[in-house]
Amino acid sequence: MSSETIETEKDPTEDPATQLPEFKDLGLNPEVLRAVEEKGYNNPTPIQAQAIPALLEGRDLIGGSQTGTGKTAAFALPLLSNLRDAQKSPRVLILEPTRELAQQVIAQLEAYGKYLPLKFMLLHGGVGYGRQLDAIKGGVDIVVATPGRLLDHLQQKNFNLKKLEVLVLDEADRMLDMGFMPDVRKILRLCPDQRQSLLFSATIPPAIERLAETMLKDPIAISIGRGRQPAETIQHAIYPVDDRQKFDLLVHLLEKLDYHSVLIFTRTKVGADTIARWLESTEHGPVAVLHSNRTQRERDAALKSFKDGQCEILVATDIVARGIDISDVSHVVNYDIPENPEDYVHRIGRTGRASRSGDAITLFTAGEIEFLQSIERFIGKAIDRKQMPDFEYNWSPIFEQSQPKKKKKRNRGFNSGTNMPRR
Ligand code: AMP
Repeated sequence: MSSETIETEKDPTEDPATQLPEFKDLGLNPEVLRAVEEKGYNNPTPIQAQAIPALLEGRDLIGGSQTGTGKTAAFALPLLSNLRDAQKSPRVLILEPTRELAQQVIAQLEAYGKYLPLKFMLLHGGVGYGRQLDAIKGGVDIVVATPGRLLDHLQQKNFNLKKLEVLVLDEADRMLDMGFMPDVRKILRLCPDQRQSLLFSATIPPAIERLAETMLKDPIAISIGRGRQPAETIQHAIYPVDDRQKFDLLVHLLEKLDYHSVLIFTRTKVGADTIARWLESTEHGPVAVLHSNRTQRERDAALKSFKDGQCEILVATDIVARGIDISDVSHVVNYDIPENPEDYVHRIGRTGRASRSGDAITLFTAGEIEFLQSIERFIGKAIDRKQMPDFEYNWSPIFEQSQPKKKKKRNRGFNSGTNMPRR
């Protein structure tokens, strides 16, 4: 795989000297442009400005991009522009690691493609086959799918990918983490060799690099910012606390925060249910819960009630940490520190999306020191430690342990000149 790389360390929208192109200059077709105008986007984001012309030309692409950079539109707009008339068998296949991401991507495609005569189909597990089979029979141009259910349909010969023109593998590193690679490879073998291929991945571990070698031909490589760093619009801090005071601190934080939508992450499904139940018994309910032990119907309802604002708090496991576009999340709270440092960046990426500023708060207890250190190594800097004013902390050794290792430069530890409370 040889590739031409466009690397942008800084978001050009932040630099008034940089001329941003306009959507109309990128070569998109008028129906797609009309839909984009209706969305109210002013200018393309950097990844869109770089990817759209190359994808319109039919180039393969490998993209590393932070969440909230407008990645979905970057591939959706040119792919839709290149599909003219409707046909009976799928010409574009987009693979997503989770059902929620698949739903979100198809919703964006339908919005951008509303003036085109194309048919879209969503295929994921956890729901019956009946409606999916009906949709297949009706003919479809664009399929957005999770790998397992798609493979079921292909193996049962409900349809085939012989007419496929474009394959998009989104969140490839997430697919790898979730154990989907064998399915992805089987699907790849069922696609025609002559096709346009796009691969998006926040990180490129060796297995993804090998996949890219076989999947892509002379791709253009686009990377916006360093995937390891949270967007600059996110203020994030660590709140050390004794394990026994964790929930009390959460409630205290919620009381002090001027929030309208808070996403709370826990490490386990049981933890998510427990925190939600406890919060329901405070004045902060009603609370929505999202994790993979919930039925598809419950997952949809939880996401909807949070998006609609019916529930101002959503408690979730990492299933929603990546990619899910819940616009306008005012705060992210990590009730537990994620074990995987990349998940920290993805979790807090739910706030501060598309350049809005956001706040992310991480509660930190003694047993999590190694996770915290690996996050700080991963993002290459210490995260501010803060304490909650007016909260009656019990003294705990956690306050000393949590100090970031001093570098030669100045100490970037507890901010605002405060020491953690003592007994
Ligand atoms: P994504 O990174 O694809 O998940 O997109 C993040 C959010 O940015 C979504 O809510 C999009 O609707 C929004 N978005 C995408 N492109 C633009 C744009 N050019 N201007 C403003 N918002 C955008």
